[in-house]
Amino acid sequence: MLVSAKDMLTKAKQGHYAVGHFNINNLEWTKAILLTAQELNSPVILGVSEGAGKYMCGFNTVVAMVNAMLDTLKITVPVALHLDHGTYEGAKACIEAGFSSVMFDGSHYPIEENIEKTKELVAVCNKLGLSLEAEVGAIGGEEDGVVGMGECADPDECKMIADLGVTMLAAGIGNMHGKYPANWKGLSFETLAAVQAKTGSLPLVLHGGTGIPADMIRKAIDLGVCKINVNTECQIAFTAAVRKYIEEGKDLQGKGFDPRKLLAPGVEAIKATVKEKMELFGSVDKA
Ligand SMILES: [Zn+2]
Repeated sequence: MLVSAKDMLTKAKQGHYAVGHFNINNLEWTKAILLTAQELNSPVILGVSEGAGKYMCGFNTVVAMVNAMLDTLKITVPVALHLDHGTYEGAKACIEAGFSSVMFDGSHYPIEENIEKTKELVAVCNKLGLSLEAEVGAIGGEEDGVVGMGECADPDECKMIADLGVTMLAAGIGNMHGKYPANWKGLSFETLAAVQAKTGSLPLVLHGGTGIPADMIRKAIDLGVCKINVNTECQIAFTAAVRKYIEEGKDLQGKGFDPRKLLAPGVEAIKATVKEKMELFGSVDKA
């Protein structure tokens, strides 16, 4: 059964580790992540962007697939199904569809509007026992070919959002989605420490986990991060493994054209990436 992310993040915060949020794109992705979490006895958060939800034939399909898999694969570790960077409408649709956790990303709105919309969703989520992630300070990354370096959130604005009763907060600390450029200045630990000082024991979320050096990840966890989002790294690992299979001509040998055979190396690559991240984040055996 899907659970809210609240308990797993509270425990992570107390235990000084982080729970991995891994985005899913299809059945193979979901299965690989769930099996790895179970094998490592780790809690896990499955992230679904609105685009990925659409790709997988809608939020209802995603919920049905994940719930059926939890049952069929006998998954007993805590699993949250979470909307990633949701719009206000998207968050409501996911709540209706049966997600156990949602993110409302109001970071592009003026702070007053972000507060107003977040507040409404806090009320809905509290009533249903769901967890809610809010965002302050946009997270950088490539959009239409322009690379934004990642804003640093205003700690006072973070406190305003934290005080609404959200479960977790994503605060921009110079982090970015996708691959980090060579001239990236690194995470702003000053901002992270200031945000945590203002928000007390609220679980903080680090987006853009792909390519952040391990020592920075550990320091971020020390300073209060207990959910880390990983998306691009699984995509790169999956595609590299499938590319290798084809380049080695394996699709041309015997029944190598069978999609189950073609995608298998990709699935193994996702498993290895998720395992590596869970070990780095410290969530192994914390289910
Ligand atoms: Zn993100």
